[in-house]
Amino acid sequence: MKRLQLNLSLTCIIVLIAVGVLVPVMLATAGGIVAIVLADDAGSIVIGVLVTSFAVTAAGCALITVLMTGRKARMARLQADFVANVSHEFRTPLSAIRLYVQTLQSHGGTDDPEMTATCLATILRETEWLDVMIDQVLTWRASSRDMLPLHMETGSVSRAVHHAVQRFESMTLPDELSLTTAIDTRLEVHYDRRALDALVLNLLTNAVKYTGDEKRIDVRARDEADGVVIEVQDNGIGLTPAESRRIFQPFYRAQRPNGGDAGGVGLGLAIARYLVQRHAGTLTVASQKGKGSTFTVRLPAAKGSTS
Ligand code: ADP
Repeated sequence: MKRLQLNLSLTCIIVLIAVGVLVPVMLATAGGIVAIVLADDAGSIVIGVLVTSFAVTAAGCALITVLMTGRKARMARLQADFVANVSHEFRTPLSAIRLYVQTLQSHGGTDDPEMTATCLATILRETEWLDVMIDQVLTWRASSRDMLPLHMETGSVSRAVHHAVQRFESMTLPDELSLTTAIDTRLEVHYDRRALDALVLNLLTNAVKYTGDEKRIDVRARDEADGVVIEVQDNGIGLTPAESRRIFQPFYRAQRPNGGDAGGVGLGLAIARYLVQRHAGTLTVASQKGKGSTFTVRLPAAKGSTS
């Protein structure tokens, strides 16, 4: 099973140790043994081999120390940024909630029913965002230790996708965007309802965050020969090919065109890909800078299921 966080770095270090130190030392030592066995006067060869082995080991260890120190410093920086970003992310909805509660207080609450309704709707929306963010941080923590429990069920994912869309609608203003859905899937898949909900919601919240004034988002789900395809398409800022390759890495955030910040901590897509992989599926992106992006989830059909 895949750990989300820094599996890759650990693998890299093991490969580095193997290629940079162990293999050369083993080759040199093997050469030394052969020389001792075959040659009459193997003394100078053995000394040469020992010196080479020592030099290779010393150089390899120095290189690994430098790389690990760099990695540690990078991790410390990422963690500090993460804490700052998460605090900032929580503060934004909390400030909005405080503002609207104060507004209600100062207007005597029930005097103006329209204003009361607006304030309450906003407070509810902001708490939904908070809820999603808290879920994201907790999921990140569990998945980075590969300890995220999934409760798998077998069935069509259409209800879970609809549920995510409804949740998303409760987080946005009615006239904030144009959202269309075409959810038509009957194939059965093994899935965890909460995980799928979080996954689709994550793609939807990104679509609204990274799209300009005229936000258009399409959600589609359909059956294919061997599984279900879920797509979230937006007409947003899009990504360069280089950015598209990196956005699934934890903490990576692409540069905004005007240098602005849409908020976020850079974990949503890393978590999304982890969740998809736990379902033996794939998550890919097709994007064009300035035109928009389509995120595609593919989940394999359960054995024996036909649409
Ligand atoms: P966050 O949104 O919290 O920064 P994510 O992991 O969800 O973290 O996304 C990583 C980065 O990928 C974002 O910072 C953004 O630069 C880019 N991105 C994600 N979704 C989209 C999208 N729909 N359109 C354009 N860029 C996106």
